[in-house]
Amino acid sequence: MENHDVIVIGAGLAGLSAARDLAAAGTDVLVIEARARPGGRVEQTRTPDGRLVQLGGEIIGSFHTAYKQLVTELGLTLCPTFVASSGETTWSLTDGTYLGDDLPWMNSADRRIYDTVEKQFSALTATVDPEDPWAHPDAERLDSLSVGAWIRDQGGSPAVVRALDLSAKALADDSIERSSLLAYLRKESAAGADGFYNYEAWENERVLEGSATVALRMADQLGDRIRYSSPVAEIRIQGTTNTVRLTTGEVIGAAAIVSALPVGPLRDVRIVGVSDERLASLHRQRNALTVKVAAMYEESFWENEGRNGTSYMERTILGGTWTQSDGVLSGLIPPSSLGEYFATPAHRREAELTEELVTVLGPPAAQHSRFYLRNWATDPWTQGYATGWRTGDVMAVGPLHGTHEPPFYVCGSDQWVCGYMEGAVRTGRNTAATILQSS
Ligand SMILES: Cc1cc2nc3c(=O)[nH]c(=O)nc-3n(C[C@H](O)[C@H](O)[C@H](O)COP(=O)(O)OP(=O)(O)OC[C@H]3O[C@@H](n4cnc5c(N)ncnc54)[C@H](O)[C@@H]3O)c2cc1C
Repeated sequence: MENHDVIVIGAGLAGLSAARDLAAAGTDVLVIEARARPGGRVEQTRTPDGRLVQLGGEIIGSFHTAYKQLVTELGLTLCPTFVASSGETTWSLTDGTYLGDDLPWMNSADRRIYDTVEKQFSALTATVDPEDPWAHPDAERLDSLSVGAWIRDQGGSPAVVRALDLSAKALADDSIERSSLLAYLRKESAAGADGFYNYEAWENERVLEGSATVALRMADQLGDRIRYSSPVAEIRIQGTTNTVRLTTGEVIGAAAIVSALPVGPLRDVRIVGVSDERLASLHRQRNALTVKVAAMYEESFWENEGRNGTSYMERTILGGTWTQSDGVLSGLIPPSSLGEYFATPAHRREAELTEELVTVLGPPAAQHSRFYLRNWATDPWTQGYATGWRTGDVMAVGPLHGTHEPPFYVCGSDQWVCGYMEGAVRTGRNTAATILQSS
C-alpha cells in the first residue's frame, strides 16, 4: 500500500496552504483532489481578449491577514476593489429603480434608528470571542434569536430590517429572519466589532493576477504531490496506519489525515474511527447556496453614467452586482431565489438574468460579449458557497468546530467563523503548524 506522512483531502485554498507548509517543512504529503483542477471554490477563466474572469471567490478585506501574507509569499499583488470606486449605487426595489448612496426608502428618523441599532450591535459584538462564542454567558439565547427578531427587539423599524435583509440578499446570505444572531456577532467580532457588515473590512482588496492564481501558484509548487480526479469515498482512522479509500477502490495510508473538504461533500465521505461527537458536529454545519453570474463588456460602461456598478436588487432573482474588474460585472443569486432560478428553463436563464441587469444598469447591460453562470449550489464537490448559520446552529455545531482529533485533522473556510478565503488559508496553515508541532 502506498504510504505517506500526511494525506490532505481537497486541493482548495485550505488544503493547498496546509500541504504547502507541510512540504516546506520536509513532510511527505499527498493531496487528493476530486476535480481535475486545483482551487475548489476559487476558479477563473480567460476570455479570448485575454481578460480573467473570477467565477468563485474574488475579494478579501483589510483584516484578512493570513491570506495577505500568503499572497506576499507567492509574489502576487493586491489591488483595490470596487469599494474604492466613485459613482452611485443602484437600488432595484419593489417600487422602482433608484440611484444614490443612501438607502432610498429611509427617512431621517429611520436613519437615526439604524445608527442606534448598529451601535447596540457593535457593543454586543465586542462581547463575543470569535474563537469561542460558546463561552458567552448568553450564548444559547443569542444563537436562538434571528438577526431580524433581534433588530425588532431593539426598536428597529421595518425600514431598518429591510436594509439588512437586502444587504444579506446581495451577499447571497440566508435571510436575516433565519440567521443566528450569535453567528452574525461572531463574524463581525472577527472583523473588529465595528458594526454591521462593512465593505472596507471585508471587501477592499483583490489579487491583481486573479484570485484563483493564488491556488494555481501553490499547486505549481506542490507539483506531483497532488493527485487529481481522485474522489475520496472513505477515511479510516485507526492509530498509526490510517487510510483513505478512493472511489476507484484504491487505498492509500498515512500517519495523519487532513480533511480540507467543504461540509456538504464531507457528509458524503464515510468516516470510521472518529468520535461520534466530532462527526455530529461536522455533519451539522451547512452552507448557504449560490450561483455566481459574471458578464463581460468591452468596458465598464456604467462608469460613463456615474454609476459604480454596485447594485442591490430586491425584486429579482439576482441579489446584486458589483464591478469585478474593468468591464466585468459580478453578481450572486441568493439562496432565497435559487428555486426560481432552477425553475427557469436552462436555455432562458441568460436572457432573463440579462433583463434584470438591464433594469439596474440600462440597455447597454444587454451588450455583453460573454455571460457566465457558475452553479456552485449543486456542484457535488462544493454543495454550497460560504458557511451559513441558521438560528441554533452555532450551539448545535458546538466548540468542536474547527478543532482536531489527531491523527484526524480538519481545515477549510467552513471551519472558520463564516467561510471566506481568509478562513481557508488561516485554518489550512494553522493545521499544518499543529501537525508539525506534534511530530
Ligand atoms: C461564488 C462564490 C463567491 C465567493 N466570493 C468570495 C469572495 O469574494 N471572497 C472570499 O473571501 N470568499 C469568497 N467565497 C468563498 C471562498 O471562495 C471559499 O470560502 C474558499 O475558497 C474555500 O476554500 P476551501 O479550501 O475551504 O474549500 P474548497 O475551495 O471548496 O476546496 C475543497 C476541495 O475539496 C474537493 N473535494 C470535495 N469533495 C472531495 C472528495 N470526496 N474527495 C476529494 N476531494 C474533494 C473539492 O473539489 C475542492 O477542490 C466565494 C465562494 C463562491 C462559491
